[in-house]
Amino acid sequence: MQTTDSIANEQLAGIIRKFFGYLPPIFASAQKTPQIQQNLYQQTIAAYIHNPIPLLFKEQLFSYLSRYCSVSYSIIAHSCALHPLGMTAGQVLTLLETLPPTDLEIGTHLRILATITSPILDWPERGSEAEHSLFLCTIFLFLLPGRAIHCRIIVRQFLGDTYYNALIEFLSYIKTCHFWVEAHPELSPETDQRVQNHLAALVADEPELINFFQKYNERAALENEHIMRDHLARKHIEEKLRASEDVVIANTQQLEATFEAMTDGVVVYDAVGNMLRLNSAYRRMIAIDLNPKHALLSPDERGDMLDLHNEADEPLPQDQRPVARMLRGEVMTGKNMMDIIVRSFDGKRKQLNVSGAPMRDQTGKVVGGVIIFRDVTQRRQLERRTHETLEGLLAIAETIVYPFDGQHQPDQSVATPASERLVQLTRNILGCQRASIIAIEPETETIHPVAEIGLSPELHQLMWASLNGIKLSDIVPEPALRAKLHAGQEYIIDTSKPPYDAYPNPFGSVSILVAPLWIDKQLVGMLSFDFFNQPHEFTPDEIALTMAIAKLTTLVIERERLLRERTEAQANELALLEANRRMDEFMGIASHELKTPLTTIKGYVQLVARRLKNSSRNVEILDLPLKHMLEGAGELLERTDTQIERLGRLVNELLDISRVQANRLEFHLEHHDLATIVRDAVQDQLLESDAVRRTILVDIPTEQSFPIIADADRIGQVVSNYLSNALKYSAEQQPVDVSLQHEGSVARVLVSDKGPGLSLEEQQHIWDRFYRARGIEVLSGSGIGLGLGLYICRTIIERHNGQVGVESTPGLGSTFWFTLPLA
Ligand code: ADP
Repeated sequence: MQTTDSIANEQLAGIIRKFFGYLPPIFASAQKTPQIQQNLYQQTIAAYIHNPIPLLFKEQLFSYLSRYCSVSYSIIAHSCALHPLGMTAGQVLTLLETLPPTDLEIGTHLRILATITSPILDWPERGSEAEHSLFLCTIFLFLLPGRAIHCRIIVRQFLGDTYYNALIEFLSYIKTCHFWVEAHPELSPETDQRVQNHLAALVADEPELINFFQKYNERAALENEHIMRDHLARKHIEEKLRASEDVVIANTQQLEATFEAMTDGVVVYDAVGNMLRLNSAYRRMIAIDLNPKHALLSPDERGDMLDLHNEADEPLPQDQRPVARMLRGEVMTGKNMMDIIVRSFDGKRKQLNVSGAPMRDQTGKVVGGVIIFRDVTQRRQLERRTHETLEGLLAIAETIVYPFDGQHQPDQSVATPASERLVQLTRNILGCQRASIIAIEPETETIHPVAEIGLSPELHQLMWASLNGIKLSDIVPEPALRAKLHAGQEYIIDTSKPPYDAYPNPFGSVSILVAPLWIDKQLVGMLSFDFFNQPHEFTPDEIALTMAIAKLTTLVIERERLLRERTEAQANELALLEANRRMDEFMGIASHELKTPLTTIKGYVQLVARRLKNSSRNVEILDLPLKHMLEGAGELLERTDTQIERLGRLVNELLDISRVQANRLEFHLEHHDLATIVRDAVQDQLLESDAVRRTILVDIPTEQSFPIIADADRIGQVVSNYLSNALKYSAEQQPVDVSLQHEGSVARVLVSDKGPGLSLEEQQHIWDRFYRARGIEVLSGSGIGLGLGLYICRTIIERHNGQVGVESTPGLGSTFWFTLPLA
């Protein structure tokens, strides 16, 4: 009885027989295990007979790869199978004797296969270059499956899945057959019909074949060794290469990550200014997503699109644009950095600080370059605001303390009504939308708008009309808030919340900060500002600054009021005297009051300076241009700081004046050596930032002593004042001489300069309060003078029973001197 297996086997054997014309003897060895025999049949049919790879290719592959089977059955049988397929004995021998490909050769063949980018549809033509390469690559795959990763990928890509899988199935079938025949050595080639039919003819044609069939094993082993050696050497080289490649990759990745992580926009250009690379910070900076074509444009088109302007907001000529400068070979660092204003694609105007450098080839030719863009919009605003703040405050302080004789006009810059300037200043400092000053009559609490900025002309008119003459309680109905103002405190309201939502709010402001104008414990007005309909959290800094401005505002308003009074009193001698007295009194108060806002402002500037310093510390070493820039900004602030110092000195002068007026200038008289006082004063002066480059020649006899009974600080103040005037009013390269002399019972201190000198008339007036000689300009350093210094010096010296004087020739210089009685 036939089993299912044997029926199936008969059918399968039929197919095989039909293909070969006989049943190859290999299957006989499995006869006793029908299931296994069936597997062998099936595999033969699927992997070999029905395999879509052309028969010749399959047979050539089988015979060639059988060089690596230790028994000769396969190699002889499949070599014979090549004969009926049209190969001559010589061709068969040539095929068999072909050396297996080395790693190096495989590279060439892979490149040939890789030129075909999409998988083939038809098997490469017989005898074509591609087929030859594929043949060798397949051998390589068979021999070194673990090594041939790259080869596998390319072959697979070349063949596509269908042919690739067919090829792999065929290779594994060859392996199976080899294993099978090696395990069944009783299989003799002579029993195979292919051998019986073709071997004799082949050998007759090419007797060498016999020799080959006998020795192929040794030969393959030798080749193998050769291949292995080649392979090992290659592997070694490759490992080295891979290691260095890893380093390169790691470095590149690191660079890449740094490039992307940089907060500055970085762009790499080629020799004609095309963008080669740009990082995400640059993309964000100009909102490139809204205009992705930007990077593909020419440099000029790009510049036009971004609407490039210079710092002064003038259109930037093409040859002045950063890319053009860089391509001309300019290194834009340090002083050569530039600020540009651009309009990014989201419509925002931005100020960018630009640094960069060209890249050159070995011959020095510019082949491209890198430009770094830093968004400084906010920082510049801050700098500008700080600068404007200080300028404004100085101007205001000047306004407050300027003499009242009408002869001396403050700077042109303060020519606009002081209160207008104040609201402008407030808006600049705080960056708010709207600011206003309202005066309040202390007795009646009637209000008068004084100045306003930020409203449209119509609303401005409306405010003027609607507020003028009404009562404080009309605009601040809440008693608690009025009480705050009366107590000299600020308040903040959110008009969207009760009870303030019920207040009249014709201007639609949301967050409002109101500071009292308060003098001598009296409410004389209010300063308020807001950001229109933008809600705003007021920071403690902003509040403190507002209070400082409110204080100054108060002084300005009060001064204007007193000046008006004085003008009105002009006709009446007595009234004028009284007005002058009140003015002096005001000066006393003003100078005291100025101290607080100055301290606040100083604190504010120092805070900004600190922030700048911190950010410059946090900037990576890589980012040198930025570091320089931040340091530059720091210097700027330091200068501002000096300016505040100067303002502080002015205030001190004012304080002294008010003390002099009130007869309250006090002296702590003690024994001192005048020589020491003079030397110390010179030393201090030299440490001042403005004087570091100046020469001060000191002539003090060392063999003599100069004992005095005096207030050392005050005498030092006089020497300093003389010295700073001498430095200030003479050119930087001119030295200043200081000498000390014995003259009988007095000591004389002289300070000489080679400045403009003073006419006789001027020499008489310079000791007066607020007198400033016409046409005498500050030549070095900077700073406003109030014309108070010499007046205070004279007061101090006279109170020490000494004398002051000046000898001067216009055009040649001046010598200011004072004497003090020796103790
Ligand atoms: P200021 O603060 O304006 O310098 P001072 O009272 O110290 O005030 O000086 C009064 C004026 O005298 C100055 O404004 C200047 O015109 C003139 N003056 C003072 N020192 C000199 C000097 N060394 N050379 C020329 N002019 C001077």
